[in-house]
Amino acid sequence: MDQLKHRNEAWLQASSIEQDVEKLFFDITFKHIKDMLFVMKVERGLVFRYLFANESGLQRTELTLEDMGSLLQEALPEEKANELQQQYEKVCREKRPVQYRDLNVYADWTFYGETILTPVFNEQGEVYTVVAVTRDVTETVLREDALAENEERYRSMFDHNLDAILSLDKDGVIIQANPNAHALLEQCKNALVGKSIDELMNAQDYVTFSRHFEQTLHGTATENFDCRFHHPSNKEINCQYKIVPIIVKKETIGAYLIFRDVEPQMDQIRKIRHMAYHDQLTGLYNRKKLLIDMDRTLTEDAIRTQRFAILTIDLDRFKYFNDTFGHSAGDLLLQTVADRLRSVVSEEAVVYRQGGDEFILFMFNADKDQTTRTADRILDAFQEPFVLVGQETYVTPSMGISLYPEDGDDAEMLLMRADAALHRVKQKGRGHYQFYKLNMSYPMANVVSMESHLRKALVRGEFEIHYQPQVNLLDGKISSFEALLRWRSRELGNVSPGDFIMLAEETGLILPIGDWVFEEVCRQLAEWKRSGFEPVRVAVNLSPKQFQQHDLPQRIERKLTKYNIDPGRLEIEITEGAMQDTEETIQILHRLKSIGLTISVDDFGKGYSSLNYLKQFPLDILKIDQSFVREILTDKKNAAITTTIIHLAQALGLEVIAEGVELVQQVDFLQQANCQKAQGFYFSRPLHADEIQEQFLLYAT
Ligand code: C2E
Ligand code: MG
Ligand code: MG
Repeated sequence: MDQLKHRNEAWLQASSIEQDVEKLFFDITFKHIKDMLFVMKVERGLVFRYLFANESGLQRTELTLEDMGSLLQEALPEEKANELQQQYEKVCREKRPVQYRDLNVYADWTFYGETILTPVFNEQGEVYTVVAVTRDVTETVLREDALAENEERYRSMFDHNLDAILSLDKDGVIIQANPNAHALLEQCKNALVGKSIDELMNAQDYVTFSRHFEQTLHGTATENFDCRFHHPSNKEINCQYKIVPIIVKKETIGAYLIFRDVEPQMDQIRKIRHMAYHDQLTGLYNRKKLLIDMDRTLTEDAIRTQRFAILTIDLDRFKYFNDTFGHSAGDLLLQTVADRLRSVVSEEAVVYRQGGDEFILFMFNADKDQTTRTADRILDAFQEPFVLVGQETYVTPSMGISLYPEDGDDAEMLLMRADAALHRVKQKGRGHYQFYKLNMSYPMANVVSMESHLRKALVRGEFEIHYQPQVNLLDGKISSFEALLRWRSRELGNVSPGDFIMLAEETGLILPIGDWVFEEVCRQLAEWKRSGFEPVRVAVNLSPKQFQQHDLPQRIERKLTKYNIDPGRLEIEITEGAMQDTEETIQILHRLKSIGLTISVDDFGKGYSSLNYLKQFPLDILKIDQSFVREILTDKKNAAITTTIIHLAQALGLEVIAEGVELVQQVDFLQQANCQKAQGFYFSRPLHADEIQEQFLLYAT
């Protein structure tokens, strides 16, 4: 180095252009170098004095040429001067170049400087001058800051994420793991890093995972999949994961596997599911579960062929126990009953609580005999007393039973039929059981589902009309029939009008149904006419709602015209209840009458209404209610009422028909009382139109 220096000096001295070169150096240093250059003289006591500053140095630091020759403390603000003093002292002390970065704040600008202080030594080896070269590194510093901030932001997301995150390379090797990943898998940091992800996962789940991982490496994130991770405790943790690709400079270098423990949620789900399918009080399954179980049994091929039974159980007088002993005793009773039922049926059936005091048993693989034995065992189990509030009490169950496949092939129907059977037991004195039989009526609880079936009945063509002959008691001739509606429900079997007419009335469905009845009766009359039979009259029952239809006369007229039926062939039966004692009723009746229809009062005597209307209304026939006829032989009062009605009708010039005649003695009685016509099982049940045609119609001569 020294050699080189000497050679340069020698060269410069030798050169005639020494002066020029010096000037050139000075120019370059002073004017053209962008870095700031300062030369400091070191004086005794480590005092530093400005000797030189280049143009850039003067411009950027607010120093002026006048400051050259001043001490550091004189030229700079105190704080900055002290800061630099320390760096300069360090150079002198350590006798080697010192580098530092500082922030320089001036009135109009600010910059980061990176400075190298280089000592210049005298012959004694002491630092007598220090050369400072400062470069503006603001851009670099800001870029570094931004990078550092980004790194921190990313780290915050990684380290503080509530999910567990593993950063994987393309081979599935763990590069980084966040604290939650360690916590969840309970592995210390080093144990995770470097491991392959397949070591941590359930082997089966890994197969799906690796497919997702592969997909992610092609740039598509995947989410919300389940997998089980191994845990050092040998159990597995149920997790849900997503995989996000790590793309750097447009290249996928790996993926983040983000996952969380879903065990707490699964627990919650299990609890909710338990609550959804169990009855809280007794711990038994509930009705919802029963429907699911039944549906499964009925749809799964493997078990569909098996027989089973449904027993609906209702506790007799439960309301009484509840009211007498209090609700907690009532609850206790239900729990005890649940236990008793469970222990009686143990393996052969599942017990469900339907709600209130109703339980249901679902017996698999059971035929009628087996079910009978179980029902008997249940009755036996209730022979034992129940202890309520320290008192021995006896409770009896009533049971209704339906069997699959005899009584239906869907859950709803089987339950309805078991209910219908239960309803019958309740009506007949409780404390026993009954198997479903055709034509049992349904309790009100089933009305809602009945309604939905009823709505479909018209479209499905489930209605039919049967005709019951009305016999002339004088000559035994038959010239009129009553049309009675029949519903053959696909789901419910035969439902009697007594069970559905009220519902049809309440829901308004009676209007379209009633229309259909008129249509069908007119069609039938036309058919009989076409076939050449002697004309007959058919009576159609009219419900109160139909009677209130303002356009009823027109509707009927349209049908008569459509089928070209003589109005005298049609009769309408209206109950007393439907006919209010008003002007309006009179008007409607007159309009119906003016068409040429025959009008009869159905179930006469039952309605307790004023007799006044008999005088005012344009009526033709009174139909004596069945309840009187049924007891004319046994009850004098009923006999008296019947005769009175007959006399009344005759006095008013009305025809009279007795309904519900089942016995020959009743016929005798009615004949003696001068009753004109009678209708009832004694003569004939309501029959299909074809049978009526065969048995009762005569060809016109
Ligand atoms: P209702 O008009 O009084 O009809 C007579 C009912 O007595 C019929 O019951 C009939 O089958 C039954 N019956 C006939 N003879 C005897 C007998 O000797 N003994 C006994 N115990 N019963 C007998 P059904 O068909 O069940 O009809 C019940 C009620 O439903 C009818 O009583 C009527 O009020 C109503 N209904 C029937 N069809 C229609 C209809 O098309 N429209 C309307 N709105 N109501 C109808
Ligand atoms: Mg009737
Ligand atoms: Mg009647």
